[in-house]
Amino acid sequence: MNVLVINCGSSSLKYQLIDSESEEVLAKGLCERIGINASAIIHEPAGGEKVKTEVDMPDHTAAVRIVIEKLTDESVGVIASLKEIGAVGHRVVHGGEKFSEATLITPEVIKEVESCNDLAPLHNPANLVGIRSCMEIMPGVPMVGVFDTAFHQTMPKKAYLYGIPYEYYEKYKIRRYGFHGTSHDYVSSRAAEILGKDRKDLKIIVCHLGNGASISAVDGGVCIDTSMGLTPLEGLIMGTRSGDIDPAIISFLADKEGITADDVVSILNKKSGVLGLSNGLSSDFRDLATASEDGNEQATTALHTYAYRVAKYIGAYTAAMGGVDIIAFTAGVGENNAAAREEIAGYLEYLGTSVDLEKNKIRGEEIILSKPEDKVTVMVVPTNEELAIARETVRLVQ
Ligand code: ADP
Repeated sequence: MNVLVINCGSSSLKYQLIDSESEEVLAKGLCERIGINASAIIHEPAGGEKVKTEVDMPDHTAAVRIVIEKLTDESVGVIASLKEIGAVGHRVVHGGEKFSEATLITPEVIKEVESCNDLAPLHNPANLVGIRSCMEIMPGVPMVGVFDTAFHQTMPKKAYLYGIPYEYYEKYKIRRYGFHGTSHDYVSSRAAEILGKDRKDLKIIVCHLGNGASISAVDGGVCIDTSMGLTPLEGLIMGTRSGDIDPAIISFLADKEGITADDVVSILNKKSGVLGLSNGLSSDFRDLATASEDGNEQATTALHTYAYRVAKYIGAYTAAMGGVDIIAFTAGVGENNAAAREEIAGYLEYLGTSVDLEKNKIRGEEIILSKPEDKVTVMVVPTNEELAIARETVRLVQ
């Protein structure tokens, strides 16, 4: 079956058409600037050239229509007609406490996703627009919602509650949810598979280090803790997000700068992290590494502060699980940035592990970095959220 995987943002739509039997990507692409001027689609059939076409896309329904046109186009298309799409898998950011796994989309499910909009006001409405547009253009084709939060729903209360009056959890569902769940799930099961072991018998720490970054503790196949919280702002220092801070900073800074709490939260989301620490130099680790090599002290400080926070979380999750068997790195930085991995691994010798510096130079591949005799296996497992969504979609449709 061919599964169309859709990841809808407020003005963008990413797609992949995946053959679920061979797990091959038949085509992928991105619609950008939807509802803005100069909207365009970048389409790439497997084995073909990436082609950018400027085309008017006033809304997401228009974008889905263009995606179908491209997929069925005589020259750049990969299928003959819409009939060759067996199901659509949608990435949905927030499933609240309602969704602990992927779900076939029905009108009731749409209502329930809507009720989680408060928790992800930037993402969930956009995801829903994508779902509705696909339903309009592909009536009768089964649709599945795969939630970023679902994998973390197994966290126990002691891990997901904040130390604030319990009534706020009861009234507003303020608690830790966690994100990147599809990636943490995929990487932890793939890590076990690579070692020829059952995930149920392992304690795994997944470090998803991208522009957004989170760590999770997967014990016996289920997530028992993760670093992101009510929103993706909590936890690690990220590209532009602060991660954990003293919450009193918000009113302190608002007062000093004469700005609102919302303004401060926006600074914490968009101008902080390694971008903020490097004095606005860059949120991209490649730029920071170059600047650091050229003697830029702020860039060096940003990279050290970043790695230190990751190492602290690994320590915390080792304690939470009473040990660790595998530490897996994934996402943009985790898959490609040897320097960050080396620095983080430098903190982990006490666990009885090491990183082979030659192997660590390899980028973007599944690779074991530790020695066979080490107590803890350190490895790189490139994430593949689209494939994970396609697999979940097929599982539910069949
Ligand atoms: P997201 O999906 O959260 O937007 P990604 O997982 O694509 O982010 O990660 C983006 C980050 O990966 C960037 O900050 C970039 O610095 C880093 N990255 C990507 N490729 C490399 C590379 N070759 N070397 C170092 N860092 C890299």
